[in-house]
Amino acid sequence: MSDHEARALTVPELTPPERVHVRRAAEGPSPGPVVYWMQQAQRARDNPALEHALALASRWDRPACVVVGLDARYPGASERSFVFMLEGLREVRDALAERGVGFACRAGAPDEVALAAARGAAVLVCDRGYLRHQRAWRARVAAEALCGVVEVEGEAVVPVEVASGKAEYMARTLRPKVQRLLERFVALPSPVAVAKRWPTDAAPPGEGSGLEAELDDPLALTRRLGVDGTAGSVSAYFHGGAAQAAAALRRLTDCVLDAYGDGRNQPQRDAVSYLGMHLHFGQVSPVRVLRAVTDAARDRDAATRSRDAFIEELVVRRELAINHAWFEPGYDRYDALPEWARKTLAKHAHDERERVYDPATLEAAETDDPYWNAAMLEMRATGYMHNYMRMYWGKRILAWSRDPEAAFDLTRTLNDRYFLDGRDPNSYAGVSWVYGRHDRPWPERPVFGTVRSMVAAGLRRKGDPDAYVAKVERRVAARSAVLDEDCG
Ligand SMILES: Cc1cc2nc3c(=O)[nH]c(=O)nc-3n(C[C@H](O)[C@H](O)[C@H](O)COP(=O)(O)OP(=O)(O)OC[C@H]3O[C@@H](n4cnc5c(N)ncnc54)[C@H](O)[C@@H]3O)c2cc1C
Repeated sequence: MSDHEARALTVPELTPPERVHVRRAAEGPSPGPVVYWMQQAQRARDNPALEHALALASRWDRPACVVVGLDARYPGASERSFVFMLEGLREVRDALAERGVGFACRAGAPDEVALAAARGAAVLVCDRGYLRHQRAWRARVAAEALCGVVEVEGEAVVPVEVASGKAEYMARTLRPKVQRLLERFVALPSPVAVAKRWPTDAAPPGEGSGLEAELDDPLALTRRLGVDGTAGSVSAYFHGGAAQAAAALRRLTDCVLDAYGDGRNQPQRDAVSYLGMHLHFGQVSPVRVLRAVTDAARDRDAATRSRDAFIEELVVRRELAINHAWFEPGYDRYDALPEWARKTLAKHAHDERERVYDPATLEAAETDDPYWNAAMLEMRATGYMHNYMRMYWGKRILAWSRDPEAAFDLTRTLNDRYFLDGRDPNSYAGVSWVYGRHDRPWPERPVFGTVRSMVAAGLRRKGDPDAYVAKVERRVAARSAVLDEDCG
């Protein structure tokens, strides 16, 4: 790629060059508007890929539009997650209209929808996704599009390949690398003024009829597209979109932050942000969250420790998960676990189990452990589970299964089926952590070998799991919006 070709698609005064990857070079624009294929970063604000597209459009005096592919066959798509996503896209549609940017939502595989739009585009801009299928879509689009293709990374605070060039061993090894670079990547993109507004009567390039108007009723559209509804709805508890993400962020900074440091590992409390589901769909920028928390903690002594604890989760742990998905090809598979972990689990595979439950009993939350059942109920009914209980939940599935590999697959399947934030790099790092990934060997025990174990007595020592059970039962009985509850 010549310097000239690369320069044609970059906007260094707006987007740090480390966030920009020219996937298909071009001397200049083809005829047509600039198209942003929105996939991972589903937001109209604080979105470097969107602003990058608008800056290119302004440079070439073209209108710009956004195209989204809605795929009922997206890996693991369920009615609960689809409705949450469409609620967010409805807001994106309205915000883009106000800014004078075109918008189309089309049924189909995201790469097909993107390629069809690229046929009429000056240039195609896309965001970055870290999972296998997301990378394959972008590779195909870059290979087959006839116009320039540029990918802009906005879902990690520190771009994944800038933070590290390899799979990191654990948080301790990634932490200093990310901390060193943080200052450089805390700027949010300034909103770019649209030079040429999208004509209201024109459809963005591509094939198939637009579903934009149907976003008014996310559930009806989800059902019409034939998305799997067997996991049930969680709309009583959570709604998707930038406005809900902003409300969760306000709740965090105004009400929860002081308690986060001590309270985040206390599942009976509510000292958590509930932002994971919004981060998963790109409805809020991690940089926006980081800045809001840093600002809120300034001049508040009590919040400083909590700020550091929160940044550890939001940046170090979350970006360790992104590192895992990016650099470990088998990120969601048992056979990619560290060798020491697989060896010790194999050595203990025939140990006697205190109990063995089949997958149906687990999924129905019908074990003899009331804490575990409450966690499974929280997940199934609401689409969320407190982080500390996720750890216990995963460890107990391993303890109660005859075969660690089958236990891993079941944990991943339940995780992705029920969590609103499932099917995320965090999902696969979290499930793999249960089996030793990003952890060290511990003293040897039955079944677990040297993989860290967790037992109910530990929950009682560190928190109040009976109060957690009561909290979940209360919440599920009330079927009320979680963000409206008292933040404790
Ligand atoms: C077995 C298991 C499965 C998990 N599955 C998922 C999943 O499917 N999707 C998911 O997003 N997270 C998952 N996690 C990580 C973590 O539990 C959730 O991110 C967190 O509970 C989300 O709730 P919150 O937004 O209220 O978290 P908060 O405590 O408010 O944290 C703020 C943000 O920091 C990040 N974060 C917090 N804890 C972790 C962590 N341990 N690892 C990585 N990032 C973290 C998340 O983006 C989170 O939204 C899993 C953890 C385990 C042990």
